[in-house]
Amino acid sequence: MSDARDRGGHYIAGDWRDSASGACIAVEDPATGEVIAEVAEAGAAEIDAAVSAAHGVFRARTLIDMPPFERGLMLHRVADDLESRREAIARTVCLDTGKAISVAREEVGTAVRYLRYYAGLADKVEGRSIPRGGGLVDFTIRSPFGVSGQVVPWNFPLELTARSLACAIATANCAVIKSPELAPLSGIEVAKACEAAGVPTGAVSILTGYGAVAGKALVTHPLVRHIVFTGSLATGRDVLRSAAERVVPCIMELGGKSAAIVYPDADLDLVVEAVKSGAFLNAGQNCNAMTRLLVHEAVAGEVLDRVEAMVAALRLGPGIEDNDITALISRQQLKRVDDAYRGALDDGARLVVGGGALLDRPGNFMPATLFADVRPETALGQHEVFGPVLAVTTFKTAEEAVAIANGTDQGLASGLFTRDLDLGMWTAEHLWSGQVYLNGWFVGGIETPFGGVNQSGYGREKGQEALEGYVQTRNIGIKVSARPNLPPRTI
Ligand code: NAD
Repeated sequence: MSDARDRGGHYIAGDWRDSASGACIAVEDPATGEVIAEVAEAGAAEIDAAVSAAHGVFRARTLIDMPPFERGLMLHRVADDLESRREAIARTVCLDTGKAISVAREEVGTAVRYLRYYAGLADKVEGRSIPRGGGLVDFTIRSPFGVSGQVVPWNFPLELTARSLACAIATANCAVIKSPELAPLSGIEVAKACEAAGVPTGAVSILTGYGAVAGKALVTHPLVRHIVFTGSLATGRDVLRSAAERVVPCIMELGGKSAAIVYPDADLDLVVEAVKSGAFLNAGQNCNAMTRLLVHEAVAGEVLDRVEAMVAALRLGPGIEDNDITALISRQQLKRVDDAYRGALDDGARLVVGGGALLDRPGNFMPATLFADVRPETALGQHEVFGPVLAVTTFKTAEEAVAIANGTDQGLASGLFTRDLDLGMWTAEHLWSGQVYLNGWFVGGIETPFGGVNQSGYGREKGQEALEGYVQTRNIGIKVSARPNLPPRTI
């Protein structure tokens, strides 16, 4: 079966398999458009085989009965394997997703850290004892759901696969993971690591397929009892409709339209540094990217000049050469971002630097682009672009800034820049988003809970809070009978 592994097959129930249909997906390097690999394309039959195997492992209580610290050790072994192949995997991630090689290296490191973090928590998922008096003993246990169906997006496929898999295994769920069709090679590397680590056969399966076929088959499968979905709002709604049919709990990590507020006393060096990574890392294809910069009118001119100079100096080119602005994942994504760019021009936004899709070169490139005078109610002020486009809007008061920041349907991240502690705390409290960054961007870590409010989703990934979404509390009450024939005791 190692042939199917080398050919990019599915990892199902401990076996490497091609699809029964023989169908494959061609994987393109976003920086060149060249086909770099072919992987098997899962249909409903492959999803069913994986889910049935996972359900069998769950019913056999293989993970539930394993001492929790051993589940942790198993996750450490998955991490060990990824770590031992770190450079090769980083190169694969770079070519698969188009991102800069340094960012791909960080992604491997982050995947390893997720696995180790949840390995350490596997034996700390505890219930509680509830005093009831009157000869009653009562306690809770934290039980897994069963088969966790996990749908992964293409922007950070390695770390997101590792993250949800780690939480599932730490809590004794089984996982069936659908890798993204646009960047499927990371899932194969994680599957190899699970195989090397001796994860029980069937406890984890990883397949590649299209969302409308394999993704749909997974989230509608009658034996899937838990769903982790990371992706777009539109697809998330569709997944939720399927889940509602079977009352399946979901963790929803959807997109955002995150805003950063720059007050007049802000340290502008920090602002420029945060814009560089917040708006343009991975060509802006981050769910919690800084997509809107709200600048106080007193510093708007200086901020725009400094951000413009920073943007103009960004190097655009293939991720393998570690450029700053790397390729978008696909031609279709490039077209979507270009449409947003053209829409912003039509809506009267002022182009400061950048431009549309670069169609005269191979790959899916678009320069870092800065728009000023963006009206909050326009499409660029409201809707996620998922590309290297930053919208700048000016404001006069803190209340106005917060109202603009909160004035979209989503609420994943937000941020602010000030040296004033009172203003900073007031703003952080009033910004309505899952995370708030003060004087930086991407300030959260593996240890900090991450997720959205409003239509950015619900449930939390990362941090200890993530595990809450992978267990259900069950209560056991015991009535201890009175034993009238025992002599009364005093304490
Ligand atoms: P997408 O919704 O198109 O696809 C995400 C995944 O869902 C893919 O694996 C796809 O194959 C699958 N899918 C598509 N249709 C499906 C269906 N009907 N049923 C089941 N699965 C289906 O999103 P994308 O374009 O791949 O990813 C970008 C989006 O993801 C952005 O909106 C971004 O904000 C969001 N995202 C969110 C987070 C987060 O943690 N909040 C992280 C990364 C990306």
